[in-house]
Amino acid sequence: MRTKPYKDIRKARCTRCKAPAVAEWETCALGNRRVALCGICDAQLNRVALRFVIGAERANKFCDRYERRKWS
Ligand SMILES: [Zn+2]
Repeated sequence: MRTKPYKDIRKARCTRCKAPAVAEWETCALGNRRVALCGICDAQLNRVALRFVIGAERANKFCDRYERRKWS
């Protein structure tokens, strides 16, 4: 994990599953370190976080749309 943004996230590996990364998460609880994520883990993290913040029903609508756009 790093504190500065990745110059090319595609060269990193997902912190969770080691697949090629496509996104990074700036993690407040880790001193704003950057966690590289693959597309699947990024989508899952967004779904978990949004369900917590705005509830499952609304979160699912946003996340379904996000995942459709992401994979098409
Ligand atoms: Zn992953």
